[in-house]
Amino acid sequence: MGVGGEMKNRAVFLDRDGVLNATVNVAGVDCPPPDARALVLFPSAEEAVQRLRQAGFLCICVTNQPDIARGKRSTKNVMTMNERVFMELGLDDLFMCPHDTPDNCNCRKPKPGLLIAAADKWNLDLSECWMIGDRKTDIAAGHAVGCRTIFINNSHAGIAFEPNPDFICMDVGEASLYIIAGDGGGIQQQTLSNSYLFRTRS
Ligand SMILES: [Mg+2]
Ligand SMILES: [Zn+2]
Repeated sequence: MGVGGEMKNRAVFLDRDGVLNATVNVAGVDCPPPDARALVLFPSAEEAVQRLRQAGFLCICVTNQPDIARGKRSTKNVMTMNERVFMELGLDDLFMCPHDTPDNCNCRKPKPGLLIAAADKWNLDLSECWMIGDRKTDIAAGHAVGCRTIFINNSHAGIAFEPNPDFICMDVGEASLYIIAGDGGGIQQQTLSNSYLFRTRS
């Protein structure tokens, strides 16, 4: 509820690589897929988006794509991948930072520019929003705007770091269940895996 009773929207911000689609291992480094044909969406991602939208959350992808600034990928190449993610998952919106760290933009996560732009466009109450990501920079961007946060532990990052996420989950499907459970949606705790899912902050 906004000032004067104005209703605001709520959203789940979703990182792209490692959350919605698989990364590609190149010489031991997790990289975005090289092109749209090589992009593999995670099996649980479409269902997660449907579930969250049904519960009244807008689903908005927020993605850093610094390979554009580095000249390793064309904007068109990356936009074609984004289009696949957007269309096939039925997202509400997608915001991308094409810059690299030396550009010192306001949108490259951990900076919160993408989330702020989305909040302006969609009239979001950020305190009612969630950020799901697989890097500490995702969690930091969420915290910077007062979102709750879920870290996807897909094993290429440690789980003991600052800033602490609110929750740690195995994948986006599990994260979506937990958001709805926390929202009083009645999902039973035992439907969630207990090896990865635990509260990290009270
Ligand atoms: Mg990622
Ligand atoms: Zn940027």
